[in-house]
Amino acid sequence: MPNCDHCHQDRPNLITLAEHTVCQNCIEVLAQGVGVKKRRLSRKRVGKQIAGVCAGIADHVEVDRDTVRVLFIVLTVFTGFLPLLISYAVLTYFLPIED
Ligand SMILES: [Zn+2]
Repeated sequence: MPNCDHCHQDRPNLITLAEHTVCQNCIEVLAQGVGVKKRRLSRKRVGKQIAGVCAGIADHVEVDRDTVRVLFIVLTVFTGFLPLLISYAVLTYFLPIED
């Protein structure tokens, strides 16, 4: 039974990386240790059109900002405006602002 190389515990979801077997938990610990910044979803102050929600989503999933905006507008129209507009307002309220 393979154990985690890092915490030496028998855990589910073991991941093998460069000949090391580590668990999900240790991956996160190790990632923080080497300064891998976990991207968190945020609104963008720079380059925003309305509240920066689309720009934030685009950067988070690494796609073009305009693609997200077009997709957002299309979805808004197709869902009858309200669901997406409410989502946008909620995201505007809850997401932290980043430059
Ligand atoms: Zn571990």
